[in-house]
Amino acid sequence: MIWNEEFETLPREALEALQFKRLKTTLERVYATVPFYKKKFDEVGFHPDKLKQLSDLKYVPFTTKQDLRDNYPFGLFAVPRDQVVRVHASSGTTGKPTVVGYTRRDITTWAELMARTFTAAGVKKGDILQNAYGYGLFTGGLGAHYGAEMIGATVIPISGGNSKRQVMLMKDFGSNAISCTPSYALSLYEAALEEGINVKELPLRVGIFGAEPWTNEMRREIEEKWGIDAIDIYGLSEVIGPGVSFECIEAKSGLHINEDHFLVEVIDPDTGEPLPYGEKGEIVFTSLTKEALPVIRYRTRDISRIIKEPCICGRTFVRMEKVTGRTDDMLIIRGVNLFPSQIESILIETKGVLPHYQIIVDRVNNLDQLEVLVEVSEEFFSDEIKVLQNLEQTIEKNIKDLIGITCKVRLVEPKTLERSEGKAKRVIDKRKL
Ligand SMILES: [Zn+2]
Repeated sequence: MIWNEEFETLPREALEALQFKRLKTTLERVYATVPFYKKKFDEVGFHPDKLKQLSDLKYVPFTTKQDLRDNYPFGLFAVPRDQVVRVHASSGTTGKPTVVGYTRRDITTWAELMARTFTAAGVKKGDILQNAYGYGLFTGGLGAHYGAEMIGATVIPISGGNSKRQVMLMKDFGSNAISCTPSYALSLYEAALEEGINVKELPLRVGIFGAEPWTNEMRREIEEKWGIDAIDIYGLSEVIGPGVSFECIEAKSGLHINEDHFLVEVIDPDTGEPLPYGEKGEIVFTSLTKEALPVIRYRTRDISRIIKEPCICGRTFVRMEKVTGRTDDMLIIRGVNLFPSQIESILIETKGVLPHYQIIVDRVNNLDQLEVLVEVSEEFFSDEIKVLQNLEQTIEKNIKDLIGITCKVRLVEPKTLERSEGKAKRVIDKRKL
């Protein structure tokens, strides 16, 4: 199902012409209204008049999260503050949060993008959506909420947390769809088991999961346990929130980028040079229609690649491969690059352990030490010590073989690792503490 046939299946040539027109308008507008952008453009001698084709965007400087912080709270807004009808902000565990704003039209655009997202996941008018993304300053809850309402689904605005209540209402209300982080979907599964609910008997059909990187192995795990389709969605508050890109249920292979609203680039994270589509690098977005907070070449820190090949669903938007790591999530252990998702893939393939894990990095005598805590499933834990030791060694060997890092695996009892109600905390890096 496609929400907006006209735009989502626009022939590439027409789409690129639209992108160029919108890009030019956006650049002209930020140059005229946001002193930060004028200064940045002037510094490199760029003027919006110089944009003759889409690829000329490479002459424009990047924007980073730090730029938003430096202009806290409203310094990057491109409209007078009285036209901003909503603000959201990042959780910002340290220092000031990053603040984003929306005009009335931005809110409508955002709802449209999330309507496309839910429709691509098979959610339709009359479905009951349990929206377990956090409501509040975080963009997840309200972003999903407005999109689902736009298509006419019945929204349960339950927000994150209180898992027992979640599964009770899921059963009583007959939720057909759920939106939350993938790690929270696994926590909810455990809560359902504890409450004696047979999840396969629930009318739940599909989960729309995002806000943290997750692997295809994790997808299979969630799909098998819940007996549902698990769909990946992507977004970040600086760009708009959820709704930047989404998987279609037909292919579940790469996330269609809403290219009529966002221009995507892939760059080498070290040099900043644009890379051709198909190569893996850092994803960079430029907003094409946002009014309150346009972002120009925003560096996401997310690593992915762009798939240009047409999709079986009929959409003409390019797809980005599932994000499985961020440049700032990447750990360098004794000189080897490691993403938590690589460990996750190995664990999910291992019988007897649960996809609940934590990676602890420390430096002892100037040497990086990697320890992986993994929960064992109930049935395995009752086994004798020798079986557990063998399991630890198997995982250690697989990590060594596949990633090239020697580590210590420590199995822990079921339900001892902290459960997340939002984004899971996978890594504790004591080297930085
Ligand atoms: Zn598709």
